[in-house]
Amino acid sequence: MKDVLLPCGECVPALGMGTWNIGDDRARRAEEIATLRLGLDLGLRLIDTAEMYGEGLSEELVGEAIAGRRDELFLVTKVYPHNAGRRDAVAACERSLRRLRTDRIDLYLLHWRGGVPLAETMEAFVALQQAGKIRHFGVSNLDLDDMRELWKVPGGDRVQTNQLLYNLGRRGIEWDLLPWLRERGVPVMAYSPIEQARLLRHAGLKAFAARHGIAPAQAALAWLLSRENVIAIPKTGRRDALRENAAALSIALDDAQLAELDALFPPPRGPRPLEML
Ligand code: NAP
Repeated sequence: MKDVLLPCGECVPALGMGTWNIGDDRARRAEEIATLRLGLDLGLRLIDTAEMYGEGLSEELVGEAIAGRRDELFLVTKVYPHNAGRRDAVAACERSLRRLRTDRIDLYLLHWRGGVPLAETMEAFVALQQAGKIRHFGVSNLDLDDMRELWKVPGGDRVQTNQLLYNLGRRGIEWDLLPWLRERGVPVMAYSPIEQARLLRHAGLKAFAARHGIAPAQAALAWLLSRENVIAIPKTGRRDALRENAAALSIALDDAQLAELDALFPPPRGPRPLEML
């Protein structure tokens, strides 16, 4: 398993598991739980969830899936911006802990920037960390201006990641935000790494994958895994798809293949507003 080093000195797997929409449909529950457990068996021991996903249903399903295996994994969840105030964050974190059936969250993220001042959220995160409820904290969907502002706030430069929309078709952050984070040793956690399956229908990517004898999802994930300091968190609730995604770890794209992908999905030629889903 390729690892990514967090600023705190801890290593996490470069390929984890997302959980948006997981837990929403009772008929899929057993397969979704089996998929997350298979992921842990295959070394995808980072799970990303959020209090927002299914308004707690996703965290509950994760709690069930990781029962008895808590120490194996690096657990990430997120607080709603409207719950990211001094007191509300503590209550939201307690609710997440209960749903996840654990006593600590490894990485607690601000889901996106809302009306609560960043300084207040950082104060809440530091207090939660001191109380042992969260081990580390970070942010999501913060653009370069937000990050510069965050860096001036007490505790702001202790964030362990910025979770961002990043995939072959969404390369805007490569212009300025990604280099800024890289200079500071802050990894990007790439969400929607296969663009919620839309990339799999891209004719150019399909042809690329067919030429090289891999699946389109594997091409998209192997590309992200070839980047420095990037963690990818594809979501699937199906064991077959999980096996396919996990196999991307053993695909090393060579320079010629990376150049082919650059031609299909050109890097940015100037600054772009941060995209999010
Ligand atoms: P994604 O991982 O790019 O794509 C997920 C979709 O692709 C699902 O419909 C899944 O369906 C399908 N899929 C996965 N592997 C496949 C494969 N090998 N072949 C065919 N279909 C496949 O999109 P995402 O869920 O938006 O992003 C991943 C995770 O990032 C989320 O689950 C969430 O944890 C996080 N996220 C964070 C934010 C944020 O604002 N911070 C926003 C979006 C997402 P099946 O389940 O049926 O396989």
